[in-house]
Amino acid sequence: MGFRLCVRAPRLCSARVLTSTIRPPHISPLWPVPWGHSYSTQVKVRSYLQYMKHKIKPPPSPPYCHVCQVGDPVLRSQAAAIDPAAITGPEVQKVINNMVKVMRKLECVGMSAPQVGVPLRILALEYPQKMLEECSPAAREARGLSAEPLRIFVNPQLRVLDGRTVLFQEACESIAGFSATVPRYLSVEVSGQNEKGEAVTWQASGWAARILQHEMDHLDGVLYIDRMDSKTFINIKWPTYNE
Ligand SMILES: [Zn+2]
Repeated sequence: MGFRLCVRAPRLCSARVLTSTIRPPHISPLWPVPWGHSYSTQVKVRSYLQYMKHKIKPPPSPPYCHVCQVGDPVLRSQAAAIDPAAITGPEVQKVINNMVKVMRKLECVGMSAPQVGVPLRILALEYPQKMLEECSPAAREARGLSAEPLRIFVNPQLRVLDGRTVLFQEACESIAGFSATVPRYLSVEVSGQNEKGEAVTWQASGWAARILQHEMDHLDGVLYIDRMDSKTFINIKWPTYNE
């Protein structure tokens, strides 16, 4: 599963779809239920409660605890730079916390602020040792995989260190369920501030360089589908449709 950037297998949300299509029973205060009769089954009561909960609970607001999907304008916007003095403030810290939370929940290795609905120039990267161990030595070698601690870059700037490109399959949590081959530079340098507002520079090669390029693109409203070899674009579950 080493090809995942901000990707994982999509979850089927059939339960959510079903509940959202259940309509509430028609309950009218002008039409009292006669003694000894009931118009509501347990199922109807439950769906009515769900309906009410949906009505009362306001929709979530950014930074989300989910990943925005392609079509959402935030994924095509030019993310704004952050005032360095604001990095340690509660608003930016909340965005960073949500990004990390979502990245770990989805077991992906990179995340950008626009993906949690916030058009600011922040990216996160982490390649856990456990994930590395799930890959064969051959895959590690071919893709240049390495375990990487959590790194946050605010207002990142990218410099290409090795202009040669390499092709590998990659995917994105914001285009859930699909994947394609994308060319990326072999080695890059990123500089910016970390989550504490300190100046940082990091040179990355192999898969880490690919993650950085993918997440940097998100900050400029660019998705991998803009760079992919379109003939390699696949639904990652396509074989299951033939079973
Ligand atoms: Zn992505």
